[in-house]
Amino acid sequence: MRQLLLVLLSLLAPVSVRAGEVERLYVLDCGLAHAEDQSLWSPGVNVDVPIDFSDNCYLIRHSSEGYLLWDTGITDRLAALPQGQPVPPLKQIWYRSQPLIATLATIGVKPGDIRYVAISHTHPDHIGNVDAFPDATLIMQRREWEAANASPQKPFSAEHKTELLDGDKDLFGDGSLTILSTPGHTMGHQSLLVHLKKSGFVLLTGDAAHFQANWDNRRVPRFNADRDKSIASMEKLAHIAEERHAQIWINHDKPSSDARRHAPEFYE
Ligand SMILES: [Zn+2]
Repeated sequence: MRQLLLVLLSLLAPVSVRAGEVERLYVLDCGLAHAEDQSLWSPGVNVDVPIDFSDNCYLIRHSSEGYLLWDTGITDRLAALPQGQPVPPLKQIWYRSQPLIATLATIGVKPGDIRYVAISHTHPDHIGNVDAFPDATLIMQRREWEAANASPQKPFSAEHKTELLDGDKDLFGDGSLTILSTPGHTMGHQSLLVHLKKSGFVLLTGDAAHFQANWDNRRVPRFNADRDKSIASMEKLAHIAEERHAQIWINHDKPSSDARRHAPEFYE
């Protein structure tokens, strides 16, 4: 009887569970932006008040799947321009202190070591260096991919191997990395929930909110693709963060970025 029960239980078990975990999460400096008018992101609030934005990438080492890079930041070309590059429509100047490839080298990682590049969305401060990883599989929402390829200015080569998602996904089937569909800023925007053994859950929210006050007050930039979806996505993330006791890491919020450990240090 007991043996029969064991056989039945083994039949019920999933066929292949790739039991893995996130071993390390590195925060990489992927650029900086100085903006003259904060209210472009918070309509009617802090008009003509300047603000600095951090721009981070996140390198994740998974025990069985290897390295996944979340976002690639501002193009490495700007590392050669210490005075930065103006971005007139946003009244911004963008800077990059060091190329991403050089930052990766400081922790002994080569572009060929990166197996997956997952991007929150296709704005240039997030996809500036996607083409530096030609062998990686690009993970993004199908909707974002289709919009990017429909535009006359392609954000990156169309030759990348891709894994196109239609919503949320437990990426490696072990609960360590979960992509969350969070449309609004762009129609195929996504976020990433990371599970770390010691630090617990960390929610990388992409540009679901640009800085802390916008998150706290559910403020939506005027240029977002869809205001209602932007608010619904913030609510979705807040709900998941509460459920998992997750830290919310708002990528462009410079004060919280400054307080975080950057590579070569890491979180585990
Ligand atoms: Zn951004």
